[in-house]
Amino acid sequence: MGRQADLLAMQPIAMQLFIKSILTDRLAHGYLLEGARGTGKKRTAKWLSQTRFCLEKSDDELACGTCNNCLRIENDNHPDVHWLEPDGNSIKIDQVRELKQELSKRGMESDRKVLIIDSADKMTVQSANSLLKFIEEPDGGMLILFLTASPQQILPTIQSRLQPVSFRALPFEAFVSDLIAQGILEQKARVLASVAGNAEQATTWNEDEWFAEARNVTVKLYEGLHHQGVDPILLIQESWMPVFKDKTQLHLGLELLLLLYRDRLHLSLNDDYRPICMEQASMLKQDILRKSLTDTTAEMEIILGAKRKLDSNMNTQLLMEQLVLKIQGR
Ligand SMILES: [Zn+2]
Repeated sequence: MGRQADLLAMQPIAMQLFIKSILTDRLAHGYLLEGARGTGKKRTAKWLSQTRFCLEKSDDELACGTCNNCLRIENDNHPDVHWLEPDGNSIKIDQVRELKQELSKRGMESDRKVLIIDSADKMTVQSANSLLKFIEEPDGGMLILFLTASPQQILPTIQSRLQPVSFRALPFEAFVSDLIAQGILEQKARVLASVAGNAEQATTWNEDEWFAEARNVTVKLYEGLHHQGVDPILLIQESWMPVFKDKTQLHLGLELLLLLYRDRLHLSLNDDYRPICMEQASMLKQDILRKSLTDTTAEMEIILGAKRKLDSNMNTQLLMEQLVLKIQGR
């Protein structure tokens, strides 16, 4: 599947708008791409740039993705596609000045140019005002794309000159498909999509050995609690604590542990449910034969209680040991 099809599956409304506008030659000169991180704004901006310069486009594939121009844009290496990104915490006036100078030159290879302002909400007022004139009197061949997760922080004078396009947060299964399309195995993709807030976080964790180990330890804890396995108290001391060293990590650990119980809950309610933890599915299906729905919700409540206590000053090992004793004591 090409990028256009991927993006279309991911953001059908935004992509249909762009495709139709390009095919009828009615693309606006400025858009505000707004949506949470990981919703595909950057990839869409790259694709839009590619549609302007692609050497082998067709009506089905407005950017081939493989020609010389598409590849240069993909690698941020095309002279007529300009990116403006925060330098540190903001997009500074000097950056805008430098960019305007660049842009005042003729298109390097054609009269078409693309200007992409990423994290546009990070523009200082000065930067925004300096860009304003530019947006008001666009150069005919220029496409301007503002990308932001916080549209309310963009100056109204700028907002009013751009056509807004919303990027919706991905529904779970679409998020999973997107991760699979990036080469992640389904069993891993389902877990990542459940705990990562966005695609960027998911791909980072996918490559992170720590995450693999974290997941492994949570499954072992579950097995120790409900099956033959390492004694859970011993496991907390020897494996859990060395992996989950700080509170952020512990939050994620408990979140991963909860996934197994959540699957158990859904499995007892619905025969057709597709578990998140695919590799543990047969174990969990066995568990619902001897654990009632009440057992499952009570055990989940214990884990959620531990999560809430994490922000107090309680010793985290003690907190985990109590969790084990409470679940075992039921
Ligand atoms: Zn191409």
